Amino acid sequence: MIVTRLAEIRRRIDAACRRAGRDPRQVRLLAVSKRQDEARVRAAVAAGQRLFGENYLQEAAARIARFGRGELSWHFIGHLQSNKAAQAAELFDMVETVDRVRIMAALDKRCGALGRTLDILLQVNVGREGQKSGVLPEEAEELARAAAQFPALRLRGLMTMPPFADEPEASRPHFRALAELAGELRPLFADPGHIELSMGMSADFEIAVEEGATIVRVGTLLFGER
Ligand SMILES: *Cc1c(COP(=O)(O)O)cnc(C)c1O
Repeated sequence: MIVTRLAEIRRRIDAACRRAGRDPRQVRLLAVSKRQDEARVRAAVAAGQRLFGENYLQEAAARIARFGRGELSWHFIGHLQSNKAAQAAELFDMVETVDRVRIMAALDKRCGALGRTLDILLQVNVGREGQKSGVLPEEAEELARAAAQFPALRLRGLMTMPPFADEPEASRPHFRALAELAGELRPLFADPGHIELSMGMSADFEIAVEEGATIVRVGTLLFGER
């Protein structure tokens, strides 16, 4: 039952917050609904879940059209090509996977035309994996500075996906590195008093919370296998 799983995940987030001396209200659960049956997503909405993450634009467009934006928030967490950025700018409340100036320029242009602002996160490849999206940590400052030239974009924080590992503890140094990097870049964020750190998935979200996550992205553990 999705309602039970939702409560259990929230309980585990809250427990991780207590262990780390954090306020549980600082951590939002993002339900990753990519490639999940609509009935499961509906069940999550019925159980009170309001924040969802999608990876594929076509699927997301259809789903957001059916579910609406009103009460729900949608974050884009997939790989973004610059020729698809305009569509992402129309659909989402936040784009978490920005890793190039070209993407920023395309998002900004569309948002400017729509007369809206868009929250973005920079995706950082903390594990330095060759095939992975995201900027390398040492490139993040330059990209964060570039965000200031785009009036429709609000740089809210950083996002990462650490290397896959069998042992959740293996993610901890990567989460810690992302939090440290965010601290170094603090003045470059739109709201330095509230920096978003999107990190942690089904296998390692509690460790991410202990290391300062403000958004944990949970799919399989909430909805079941895709
Ligand atoms: C699919 C996905 C998730 C969720 O992964 P689970 O292991 O199913 O919780 C989180 N973040 C990103 C970027 C994803 O693509």
